[in-house]
This record gives sequence, C-alpha cells and structure tokens, in this order.
Amino acid sequence: MRNQLLFSITFLLLFLLGACGSEQTSQEQGEDQQLKIVTTYSIIYDIAKNVAGEEADIYNLAPIGSNPHEYDPLPEDVKKTTDADIVFYNGLNLEEGNSWFKKLTEVAGKGDAEAPVYRVSEGVEPIFLESKGLEEETDPHAWLDLRNGMTYAENIRDALIEVDPGNESLYTENAETYINELKELHEKTIEQIASIDEDKRFLITSEGAFKYFGEAYGIETGYIWEINSENQGSPQEIRDVIDLIREKEVNGLFVETSIDRRSMETVSGETGVPIVGTVYTDSLGKEGTDGDTYLKMMESNINVIIDGLNKE
Ligand SMILES: [Zn+2]
Repeated sequence: MRNQLLFSITFLLLFLLGACGSEQTSQEQGEDQQLKIVTTYSIIYDIAKNVAGEEADIYNLAPIGSNPHEYDPLPEDVKKTTDADIVFYNGLNLEEGNSWFKKLTEVAGKGDAEAPVYRVSEGVEPIFLESKGLEEETDPHAWLDLRNGMTYAENIRDALIEVDPGNESLYTENAETYINELKELHEKTIEQIASIDEDKRFLITSEGAFKYFGEAYGIETGYIWEINSENQGSPQEIRDVIDLIREKEVNGLFVETSIDRRSMETVSGETGVPIVGTVYTDSLGKEGTDGDTYLKMMESNINVIIDGLNKE
C-alpha cells in the first residue's frame, strides 16, 4: 500500500515536471504537423519505424537493454506520451509488472477508451502462463514468432491509417515490403530448424520467453523462471530446471541479453552443461550489434540457437 502511494506520488511529480516542459514546444507543434508516435519498448519501436517510415517521429519508452515488464517512466516519457498522437503497446501482460504503462497513460491523459492507444498484439492467439497461480495470465512474448510480428505490423499499419488517413498509401506500401521480409525469414527459419536433430531441439533460457517461438518452429522449451517480473531464479526454480536438463539430456544452455546471467551460470555449474549462446528476447541489441532491429535480432537468435543446439 505504502509502495503504491509512493508510486502514485512519483507519477504525479513526473506529470508536473512533464507539464512544465511542454509549454515551450507547443509553438513548435503548430509548425510541425508530423505525427507523434510513442512505443513502449524497442521491438515495437522498430516495427513501427518500418511501417511509418524512416522519417517518422517515434519516441520509445523502455530503452534498449531494459526490462519492459517493469519500467519506471522518466519526466520526458510523461511529456512525450502526453503529446503523442498515437501510442503503441504490446499488451498480453507485458507492460504490467508494476502497472507502469497503465499509470503512465492515465497521467498522460491517454487512459480512456477513446484515446489513440493501440495494442499491437490484437488478434494474436495467446499462450497462457503455466506457473501455479498465473494460469489465467497470458505470456507476452508473442513477437518471438515471426507470424505474430507480421500481425503487429498489420495492426500498426491500420492504426496509423486510422489516425493519419492522408498517408494511407505510404503506410500500406511500407507494411507490405516489411511483412514480406518477415515472411521470408519465417520460412527460412522453418527450413533451418529442420537441420537440428529432433532429440536436440530443447531450448533452455533464464526467462520462459520462447513458448511462442517453440510452438512456431518446433522446439521444446524450458526455463528457470517463467516471466521477467522476477530477475533471479529461486532455489526451487533452479532445482527444477536442473532436473529438467538432466531428464532431457540437454547439452547447451542459453542466456538473454537483457537479464542477469548469474542464475544460468549457477545452473551451468551444477549440471556441467555449458552456456552456448546469447539470445535477444525483451529488447533489441544496442545500435551496431547483430540484434539492432527486430529482423536482425530474430535472425541472430535463430543462428545462435542452431549453432548452440548442434554443438555436442
Ligand atoms: Zn520477457
């Protein structure tokens, strides 16, 4: 309760700070007719950039390398969300770790049903969590199946057209080009995964982020903790994954770029099974890395997983 109160006060302060800064820019806004887009994390940012175009004015909230499950918005985030013409979020239980997005949209005046806030995972077939007590909650990591990435791009296209119909042909063409690239990688992934022996197709990561990926591409998955509202495994979770690794005779483990790797190092030490690769899940890689776009992070993951699982 006390924490909630503190959180609300922090948000109120952030709002006031944000509001102080916005007066100067309201004049600039008059001249600048460009659509102002806000996204909750880097993966949607990149998909939106591909659909809206390189020149689009897009501001991203949870920065690269951070955890979009739980994020603490900055005064600038409140200001940008207040000024936004359109806001994109993942939904499916992603931005809900500390209700940061719900509180942010309320403070920014985007909390009601008419506000231009769009859930990009609309239409995705959800997978539910399996941990005890969480079975009613959806797993958010739908983007790790490229077909869902295509749905995200379509939803972003349709929302942009709704808010900015004058640029319909631009959004339609951009989306078509981009969706074709995603489709090509999706088909290539199916072919490449087929090169891994079936008995080696078991992907262990720290967070259970690969369920959609596993279903799409025929790989079984396991994890230490199920969702990133945790950031270290409990002793019980570590024992469970060690049992799973021994039972399934897994011979390679994976860590994610945006989490603390110590739990997986413990698991690796206990089982003698090496960590064979680093994968992207909740965030793109920093600019200049092999995962600095959604397409590149997916391609990098696929290569790392194939190399890692094919190792003896
Ligand atoms: Zn996650």
